[in-house]
Amino acid sequence: MNDYGFIEDESYAASLDENDPLANMRDRFHVPGDTIYLLGNSLGLMPRDAEISVTRVMGEWRDLGIRGWLEGNPPWFWLAERLGETAAPLVGARPDEVVCTGTTTANIHSLVSTFYRPEGKRTKIIAGELDFPTDIYALKSQIALRGLDWREHLVLLPGGADGYMDEENIIRAMKEDVALALLPSVFYRSGQLLDLGRLAAAAHERGIRIGLDCSHSVGIMPHEFDEWGIDFAVWCSYKYLNGGPGAPAFIYINSSHFEREPGLAGWFGYAKERQFDLKLDFDHARSAGGWQISSTGILGAAALEGALSIICDKGIEHIREKSLKMTSYLIYLVDELLSQEPYCFEVATPREPARRGGHVAIKREKKALKIKEALLMRGVIADFRPPDIIRLAPSPLFTSYGEIRAVARHLREIIDRGEHRQIQTSRKLIT
Ligand SMILES: *Cc1c(COP(=O)(O)O)cnc(C)c1O
Repeated sequence: MNDYGFIEDESYAASLDENDPLANMRDRFHVPGDTIYLLGNSLGLMPRDAEISVTRVMGEWRDLGIRGWLEGNPPWFWLAERLGETAAPLVGARPDEVVCTGTTTANIHSLVSTFYRPEGKRTKIIAGELDFPTDIYALKSQIALRGLDWREHLVLLPGGADGYMDEENIIRAMKEDVALALLPSVFYRSGQLLDLGRLAAAAHERGIRIGLDCSHSVGIMPHEFDEWGIDFAVWCSYKYLNGGPGAPAFIYINSSHFEREPGLAGWFGYAKERQFDLKLDFDHARSAGGWQISSTGILGAAALEGALSIICDKGIEHIREKSLKMTSYLIYLVDELLSQEPYCFEVATPREPARRGGHVAIKREKKALKIKEALLMRGVIADFRPPDIIRLAPSPLFTSYGEIRAVARHLREIIDRGEHRQIQTSRKLIT
């Protein structure tokens, strides 16, 4: 597990930083002082470019009022499509197959309402018990909206004993009564990455539509939606894309579905050149833009303009390369420094790079929540996912190798000194 030849030594970590071609990207972010921020997988830090683009749009609103829709630079009217074009190379899509709109859970509702067509024997949806719960809430309510019972029509696949989802099990569940599979690219807790091309091919061979929730992968690794033949996808912008809290999200619609009627129609999905004819018959744009519902939240979208420029400048392949090196380094350090008694931490993320997203889950059966709180006392921002997981996400854009090593040392010292035993706090609302 040490293909990189890592050494556990401070000067070695410093040399990794010195030789890192992305090290200067940190200057493009506001990094909160005196902290090591390892939650870019949950809320990315503020890019300076985002601050600039939001300030510019605030000025346009101030100076132009409603004229900003056409006279903003770029015009607000096409901002959602423009951001879609910018983001399309990150997911291997055509420029018109991606648009910035809505929020992830609402987008799941919109796209499942479009693509879930229970017919005859084909009435079931495949999802998994390890998925982020909001996806499951949305699927259950979508099934209920068709007058069906989710207990019968939702196939909720369990994870394996190792805590991961086996692609083979998903494929086995793709039976003749399945209409749709909605799967995550990377699992939010374990960080496992599914073999998406293989799953898409298996679904299509069996006449099943496949949608992806890529909230935990877009911005940290390349995707090939068109090549894989994904039918639709959703992802949020506030994690690895650094778009800001509650930023407008993205959807992907494969161009083969452009003629399909959007399940949830709204006037911002109307063919743009005729939107203001204000006809009562809905005629959607033949692009992902056709699945917009409401006016673009221009202030939120403005932040994304700056945020995306950073990732697109650097190239997603380079970001993935560094991300894998950083997570490998972290896994190496956990093995070296933290796996023995009395530390007892265990890596709960796949070790094969091709099966891993951008974060590392470390598992400790006892006191994981308190240890995460003790990390915070030492200025390390990580999170806890029940029952026993601490998630650490080194960002290729703003985390240094020195910081990754420091976190491993912090964890050791917390246990050596019993600092977690002194933590009194009960569980907070957000962990
Ligand atoms: C973060 C995340 C979401 C977020 O949903 P919102 O509707 O934006 O709050 C949805 N799904 C997954 C898998 C996520 O990781």
